[in-house]
Amino acid sequence: MADVKRVYAFGGGTTEGNKDMKFILGGKGANLAEMANMGLPVPPGFTITCQACMEYYNSTPPGFPAGLSEEIASYVADLESKMGKKLGDPGDPLLVSVRSGSPFSMPGMMDTVLNLGLNDISVQGLIAQTGNDRFAWDSYRRFIQMFSKVVLDVEGDLFENAITKMKLDAGVKDDTELSADDMKSLVGVFKGIVAEHVSADEFPSLAVDGKVAFPQDSTTQLHLAIEAVFKSWMNDRAVLYRKMEKIADDLGTAVNVQTMVFGNKGETSATGVGFTRNPADGTNEYYGDFLTNAQGEDVVAGIRLTEPIAELKNLPGLEAAGAELDEVFATLERAYRDMCDIEFTIEQGKLWMLQTRVGKRTARAALKIAVDMVAEGMITREEALLRIDAMQLDQLLHPQFDTKATYDVVAKGLNASPGAAVGEVVFSADDAETAAAEGRKTILVRWETTPDDLHGMVAAQGILTSHGGKTSHAAVVARGMGKPCVCGAEKLKIDAVNKQAKIEGTDVVLSEGDIISIDGTTGIVVLGAVSLVQPEVSGDFDTILEWADEFRTMGVRANADTPEDAALGRSFGAAGIGLCRTEHMFLGERKDIIQRFVLDDAPESRLSALGELLDAQTGDYLGIFEAMDGLPVTVRLLDPPLHEFLDSPRELEVEIVKAECAGAPADELAAKRRLLAQIDAMAEMNPMLGLRGCRLGIMFPELYKMQVRAIAIAACDLKAAGKDPRPEIMIPLVSVKAELEILRGECEDVLAQVFAEKGMSVDIPIGTMIELPRAAVTADEIGTVADFFSFGTNDLTQTTFGFSRDDIESKFLPRYLERKVLPRNPFETIDEGVAQVVAIGCEKGRSVNPKIKLGVCGEHGGDPDSVKRFFKVGLDYVSCSPYRVPLARLAAAQAALADKSSASDNR
Ligand code: PEP
Ligand code: MG
Repeated sequence: MADVKRVYAFGGGTTEGNKDMKFILGGKGANLAEMANMGLPVPPGFTITCQACMEYYNSTPPGFPAGLSEEIASYVADLESKMGKKLGDPGDPLLVSVRSGSPFSMPGMMDTVLNLGLNDISVQGLIAQTGNDRFAWDSYRRFIQMFSKVVLDVEGDLFENAITKMKLDAGVKDDTELSADDMKSLVGVFKGIVAEHVSADEFPSLAVDGKVAFPQDSTTQLHLAIEAVFKSWMNDRAVLYRKMEKIADDLGTAVNVQTMVFGNKGETSATGVGFTRNPADGTNEYYGDFLTNAQGEDVVAGIRLTEPIAELKNLPGLEAAGAELDEVFATLERAYRDMCDIEFTIEQGKLWMLQTRVGKRTARAALKIAVDMVAEGMITREEALLRIDAMQLDQLLHPQFDTKATYDVVAKGLNASPGAAVGEVVFSADDAETAAAEGRKTILVRWETTPDDLHGMVAAQGILTSHGGKTSHAAVVARGMGKPCVCGAEKLKIDAVNKQAKIEGTDVVLSEGDIISIDGTTGIVVLGAVSLVQPEVSGDFDTILEWADEFRTMGVRANADTPEDAALGRSFGAAGIGLCRTEHMFLGERKDIIQRFVLDDAPESRLSALGELLDAQTGDYLGIFEAMDGLPVTVRLLDPPLHEFLDSPRELEVEIVKAECAGAPADELAAKRRLLAQIDAMAEMNPMLGLRGCRLGIMFPELYKMQVRAIAIAACDLKAAGKDPRPEIMIPLVSVKAELEILRGECEDVLAQVFAEKGMSVDIPIGTMIELPRAAVTADEIGTVADFFSFGTNDLTQTTFGFSRDDIESKFLPRYLERKVLPRNPFETIDEGVAQVVAIGCEKGRSVNPKIKLGVCGEHGGDPDSVKRFFKVGLDYVSCSPYRVPLARLAAAQAALADKSSASDNR
C-alpha cells in the first residue's frame, strides 16, 4: 500500500470520498462519491486524485508515481469483485469509462475514453451477455475510435471518413442503419487505420512486427487511457480555457474510472442531461433533454434532435426511471441547496446517475434562483449574495436589439445565451481570431462548435450554430462566457469549405464578410446590422443589489465625464462621480482653442482663447453637476500630455509639402512652418512621464485657474437655482507636497474670487490623485494639504512596475502571463505590490489627516477581485465605469460579508 492515498472508491457499497473533496477527487469524482453516499444509483468505480496527475507532470520524464499502478490494480480488483465481472473477460467482460474531472468544471476541454475493456475476445462475451451482436460490435468500434483519437493521437476524420464510406457502400444514410456485420467490418478497418497511422517508435510497447497493433490487454488499455487523461490537462484548449477562467494550472485533473452503463441498448434505454431549474432564466422547473437508444456524447454533440426531459414519463418502459429522476432532482437540490446539473443514463429501464454538480447558469438565472431560494427558505440573503459571480452581472447589461428597430428575421434557432451581437460572418475559429486581431467584429457561424473552436468563440462577438440543443457545446460555453449565442438554427445549410451558408426556404446566401445580427435572448438571426440598446434589468437584479447595499460598507461611484454617462451611473446606483476626466472636453472644435492658448505669442489672443474655454467648460460642468445633483462630483483638472491637444507634427509636415506643391502663398507656408517648429519644440521622449498632470498647472497656471473658475461658476449658478451641486476639485499626478500646496492655494484664490463675485459660496473640497509611488510613500506630507486622495491605479500600476500602460498588453504581457511571470494582467486586477503601495498611501494619509476621504478611480475600481482587495485596504469608495457600478456594489458587499464571516471564524 502506498504511503500517499491516490485512489478512492465510490459506489457499490464502499465510498471513500465526499463532495468537499473536489481539490483531491475533482468536481466529478467528489460529486459521484457524494451521490453514492446519498444512496443514489451510481455505477461503481474509483477516482485517481488530481495530486497524482501533478505528480505525473512533476516526474522527469513525466510518468506515474511509484506505487500508482499497483494501487490502481488493487482498485480494479475491488471493482471487479463488486461487479462480479472482469475487465477483458471472454465470458462477461466488465467495461469502464475513463474520464477527466478537475476541481473546476472545464466542459469538454479534456479527454474521455468509453467502453474500455473490449478486445477481440471480450467482444464475444458482450455478445453472449446481451444477445445483441450489433450493439457489441458498435461498442467495440466506438472504443477503438475514441481510444485511438485520445490515446494514440490518430486524426478523428480518418474514422469518420471510414464510417461515411461504409454507409455509402451499404447504401444507407444513418449510422443507426449499419448492420452488425458492417460494425464488425469497421472494427477491422479501424485497426488498419491504427496500424497505418500510429508510429511504432512512439508506442514501442504496442509494436508487433514494426506496426502498432490495437492493444488487446485491458491493463495496458487502462494504463494508457489514464495517462492520456493526465496529459489532456495540458492540451492547448484546456490551457486556454484555464487562462480565460482564471483556473490555476497546478491543480491537475482527477481520473474517474467507472463501470459503463449503456443508454444505447434499445428503446427502453436512454441518455440525457438535465438541470434542477431552468439554467437560462432560473424558472423553478426540471429542465433538460434526452435521447433514447443513444450514448452520452450523442446528446451534447447535437447529432440527433433531443426530447425534453418531461417526456420521459410518457414513454413505455421509461416511466419508472422518469419518475425516479424527479425524486433525484429534488434530493440533489435539498442536499446541495443549489441548482444542480446532472448527466444520467437509463439502461433497459434502470436509472443511473453519471454526474452532478452545482450547475452553470446565466446571470439572469443566477439572480432569480438566488432570490427564489431565499424566498423558499433554502438559503440566507448573505448566501445568496455570496453565490452570485459579480463579473456575471455584466452579462445582464449586455446590449439587446433596439425594440424600435425594424428587421426581417431570416432564420430562427434556440436562444442559447442571452445578449445581441452584430458582426461579419466567419466560418472558422481561426478566421474569427484573425478578424479580431484586425479589429473587425464577427459572428462565428458553425455547424456545431467543438472545444477546438474555443479561441474563435473568444474572439467573436457572438456564435451561431445550425445544430445542437441548449446543452450543446456552443450553448454551454457561450453562456459561461456571457457571449450571445443562437444554436440549432436548422435552416442554415453551412458549406464551411466554400465559406457560404444557404438559408433553406429562402434565396438568402450568407457569404464570409456579410454582416448579420443575432439575438441570443430570442434565438433570431437577421441579415444586416440591427441597432443595439442596453437592456432593462429585472426586479431580481434590483433585489440583489438592494441586499448588497444593506451589507456593503464601501461606497461606489462612477467615472463619467458627460451628463449622459453621469445619469447612467446614477441609474445604476452610483453615489457620485469619483472621476470626471476633463480632457475629453478639450477635443473636437475646442482643440483649436487650446492650441491657440498654448502656442499663440499674442497675449490678447491667448486671453480670448481662455475666455472661450471658460464658457465652454462652465456649460460642461453645469450639465454634469445637475445630473448628479446632491451627490459628489470629483472633477479632475487637465491631466494628459499637452501634445495630445496639438496638431500631429507628421500630418502638419505632409500638409506643408502639399501646400508647397500647390503653390500656396509664402506667408501661409511660413505660418505653418512656425507652427510646426513650435509643436516640435514641445515634443517629449516620454510624454507619459513628461509635461502632464499637475505639471501643466504649474507651467500654465491660467489653464487650471480657468477650470476652477468654471467649476465655481457652475456650482454657484446651480445653487442659486435651488440645486445642490457638490463638486470636488482633484489635482492629478502630484509627486511632492509643494505641487499640491501651490496649486491648492491658486484654486482657493479663484474660488474666493468667484464666491465674492457671486455673493455666495459652495463647499468645494480640494484633493489629489495618488498615482505615483513617491506620492504614496510621502502621503503623510501630501495628506496635510489634501481633503481627499483618489488612487489612480492605472498610473500607479504603470509607475510602480515601470510598465507602459499603452504598450505592454499588446507587447510582452501575454508572454508574461503564459510564463507565469505575473499571475494576472495588473492593469485589470490590482497587483499585490501595487495594492501595498495603495495601503501605504492610505495609512500615511490618515495618520496626518484622520478625516481624509480615500477612494480609487483606476480601472480596478470595476474589477470584483480588486474591489475586494481595496476593501481590505480600507478605502471609503471605489469608482468605475457606469456599467460596472452594479458589479462593484455586489463585490463590495461580498467583501464585507467575507470579512464578517472570517471575523466570526476567528472568534
Ligand atoms: C489612473 O491613472 O488610474 C487614472 C484614473 O487616471 P487616467 O487613467 O486618466 O490616467
Ligand atoms: Mg492617471
